[in-house]
Amino acid sequence: MLLPERQEDAPTYFIINDQPDTCGYCGARLEFIELKELDGEEVFVNECLGCKREILMVEN
Ligand SMILES: [Zn+2]
Repeated sequence: MLLPERQEDAPTYFIINDQPDTCGYCGARLEFIELKELDGEEVFVNECLGCKREILMVEN
């Protein structure tokens, strides 16, 4: 059975919530890098200290 593929170039955003900022992939702590504005929305750019991914977060 084939699952529909949704390969989108859009980055994955995580919603900021009350929990401490941790990586959505590996759970390690994040280091805040910068605040960007994308499409009129403020996006918090973080780097995971574990897997080194760029983690983008938006406020809900
Ligand atoms: Zn990580």
